[in-house]
Amino acid sequence: MDLTNIICPEDNERMVINMGVKKAVFKGEEITYPVEVYVCKKCGLEIGTIEQTAKIQNAITDAYRKKVGLLSGQEIKDQRKKLGLTQRDLARRTGVGLASIKRWENGIIQTRSMNYALKSAFQGIKIGNLYNGNRSLSISRIKLVMKEFEEELDIQFLAKNDMMLFDAKYLWYADMLAYKKLGKSLTGATYAALPKGPQLNNYKDLVDEIRNADETKAEPLTADEKKIITRISVTFPKKSMIIDAAHREEIWKKKTTGSLIPYSDSVYLTEI
Ligand SMILES: [Zn+2]
Repeated sequence: MDLTNIICPEDNERMVINMGVKKAVFKGEEITYPVEVYVCKKCGLEIGTIEQTAKIQNAITDAYRKKVGLLSGQEIKDQRKKLGLTQRDLARRTGVGLASIKRWENGIIQTRSMNYALKSAFQGIKIGNLYNGNRSLSISRIKLVMKEFEEELDIQFLAKNDMMLFDAKYLWYADMLAYKKLGKSLTGATYAALPKGPQLNNYKDLVDEIRNADETKAEPLTADEKKIITRISVTFPKKSMIIDAAHREEIWKKKTTGSLIPYSDSVYLTEI
């Protein structure tokens, strides 16, 4: 269909695009919403393309949501993107299915309790997540990432009496790079600058927990997350290489011993 030349079926007049606002009562609320349709100047007939009609439906539910204090579809989308989350990330964070996030972003109205879950997810991400990279710590996922590295590298992680000297560096690079590229760490782990390099904060407490963790209970790695692990494995195929690289990183060198390394420092990585 040639959208620049729509003819009125009533009187064969050429229709023109008309942008304006409309008022309506929707679910008992009076709302104002923007509209864009084709209109015949002769008889007043209005025709919307499928796309225009969908936009109007979104505009109506967005206007309604704003009126009653719910996040609009556009707001959900904007806040999600601002935090670098995919729809799937947000679904996990709010404990709903991916389809729900898609529907809410595209015109379906969420319930109040789901609105609260969304707001909490957005708030939770903003506050105090500088040191876990927008994810809650998952021990089983640490194990899962280590297993993935073991497969890629053919190196055994978490050896007996392990001090996690190289293990933690693979994890650190993976988490930092994931945060930089995907807006979210892989494991939610917090890292400290220790004399022998970046290290899992409280690793001595965590090492047995990690060893005993069940990686099958972890949220599976996405294709993008696996790519991060592959890239690090290809760049640092040997333990000594990743240890040396980590020791060249300014974001570790410049920290006082024991201080935490924020994920925001990932933009200053020099070795990957
Ligand atoms: Zn007409």
